[in-house]
Amino acid sequence: MKSSLRRIIPTGLLKRYRAYKKRQALKAYEGDRVFCPICRSKYDHFADFGLVVRHNARCLNCGSLERHRLLYSYLQNKKNIFNEGEKKRMLHFAPEEFFLKAFANNPSIEYVSGDLFPELYNLNGTYNVTKIDITNIPFSDESFDVVLCNHVLEHIPDDALAMLELYRVMRTGGWGVFQVPIDYSLVNTYEDFSITEPKAREKAFGQIDHVRLYGQDYKTRLAKAGFSVTEDDYVTQMSSAEQYRLGVMPHELIYYVEKQPTD
Ligand SMILES: [Zn+2]
Repeated sequence: MKSSLRRIIPTGLLKRYRAYKKRQALKAYEGDRVFCPICRSKYDHFADFGLVVRHNARCLNCGSLERHRLLYSYLQNKKNIFNEGEKKRMLHFAPEEFFLKAFANNPSIEYVSGDLFPELYNLNGTYNVTKIDITNIPFSDESFDVVLCNHVLEHIPDDALAMLELYRVMRTGGWGVFQVPIDYSLVNTYEDFSITEPKAREKAFGQIDHVRLYGQDYKTRLAKAGFSVTEDDYVTQMSSAEQYRLGVMPHELIYYVEKQPTD
């Protein structure tokens, strides 16, 4: 709307007009064919998302994407973390706001979230994000039952050190999920630390702030830090109708890691 028009229209009327436009836009999504397990919203379909547009991708209420809903479903249905009586201590890196709220408010989780840049979170003082350098985690050994570190390691120059730190703070018998973007056509992870310009990084690694592109050896890299790693094809245990209903990608593997006793 032109600024000259904006000046003559009363603010209240403009607000009502915008709310009306938003309601009209949402009408196209009304229905119950899809379900977001994180915020429990139902729609006819999720919104399109991505530079290369993906259909049925983004939740209109909480903003979750396919990978978030897959992870939540995994934690809820396969790991049963929201129902067990025994309280789990969880460390969560770079928490998405919808996850942070869901985990922090869950009575079965003692929740610690961390990020190298906690000042970038706008949570109005309601939730706490601790400043944590993943290559020097400020917690003692064996501190957490569950560690979530998703879409973080591809940003970290010394990811081997980060993996050792993740292993150190995990309790023996504990587990985690460590998702990263993977190009399965690469046998070996592609790294070149001479590439530092954002545009060049985007071209080489897929995003301006990624420092590598993981390949098929991601599992081996985690195992070197001590983890037992499972590439879990949990998503294939759902019917295609269920995959559509949750709006998940049908081939995404869950990188499930465990710290087992070494005896
Ligand atoms: Zn949602």
